Amino acid sequence: MRFADIPFHAKEKQRLIDMVDNGMVPHALLIQGPEGAGKLSLARAYVQYLHCTSRVNGEPCGQCPACLQHESFNHIDTHFTFPVIKREGGRPTLSDDYISEFRDFLSTGVFSSFERWQSMLKQEKQALIYVDEATEVLRFAGFTSHASQNKVVIIWLPERFHESTANKLLKLIEEPNDNVKIVMVSNNPQGILPTVYSRLQRVEIPRYTEEEVSSWLSGRQSVEEDAARAVARLSAGNMSAALDLVSTSGENDTRLATFISLMRLAYLRKVIDLRAWANDLAALGREQVIGFFNYASRMLRENYIYALMDPRLNCMTDKEETFSRNFSPYVNERNVEELMQVFDHASRDVAGNVSAKIVCFDTAVKVILLLTR
Ligand SMILES: [Zn+2]
Repeated sequence: MRFADIPFHAKEKQRLIDMVDNGMVPHALLIQGPEGAGKLSLARAYVQYLHCTSRVNGEPCGQCPACLQHESFNHIDTHFTFPVIKREGGRPTLSDDYISEFRDFLSTGVFSSFERWQSMLKQEKQALIYVDEATEVLRFAGFTSHASQNKVVIIWLPERFHESTANKLLKLIEEPNDNVKIVMVSNNPQGILPTVYSRLQRVEIPRYTEEEVSSWLSGRQSVEEDAARAVARLSAGNMSAALDLVSTSGENDTRLATFISLMRLAYLRKVIDLRAWANDLAALGREQVIGFFNYASRMLRENYIYALMDPRLNCMTDKEETFSRNFSPYVNERNVEELMQVFDHASRDVAGNVSAKIVCFDTAVKVILLLTR
């Protein structure tokens, strides 16, 4: 991870770079700030910079052995501690038990959220950092360093320490060991034990502004400017939430395209093409089919309302509205109720395990009859 991979935060990056350049690396550092501000990635860039053997212009080189190990999440003197689900049967619960999932999680991009991590663990129980992990950290800290003078423990979300975890780690934080550095990353520093918190040197990462979110989305993520501005407003400076919104709107675009092709083919009574359309949709899997039927039902309602010409009642994206300008007259009081029912029933049938292929085609045929009424 390079500092440049994380957008903005120039001042905060410089503080981290200066710590390393001036030989003032704190024994225990806390990077704190709101979720979706890039803190975990900044911590990773900072630690890689610390370990890099040929730093260039405030960035890790990306090519030395230390950098290569960091980029494959395998740096020998770096240990990751993060919340996990307690294992059954009294077995010790360590972060390393979930390290391959955590590497996948880190690989998903610069911005990550605890919610996403919790969902990757695929369990209902809350993830915590258990006391066995504190024992593991002490064991790691006790070994002589392999390659560099700085062994680093990156602790993601110390606010999720089990009570005994914090007490056990307190000694390591209180009595610095020259060879071990601790870097904590927190969304909620109020949740950290005060005796721990008071011993941490702190760097505050600010929330991104709306302008920063929208300019990054439209620049780096090639989101259209209007959409980027809307997403920036909705996500309140949380870049991770903004990316989630963008990916949902991507799904929306696919559904709109599917809806448009259904309506065009149905209007033209292209039965053979509709069979192919039904097969394509069914091939996406049950969940996607149900998602589409629910979307179609909403679009029919929106188009009916659109004809009433009161934009305050409508809730459509620009792309949906563009289509609705011409399409909405086809949805009227003669067919709107039945059309929506067709999709609602179809959604229930697919959820109830009726063959998606049959339901999709059957729905398409009903749309032909209702659309030309
Ligand atoms: Zn390097």
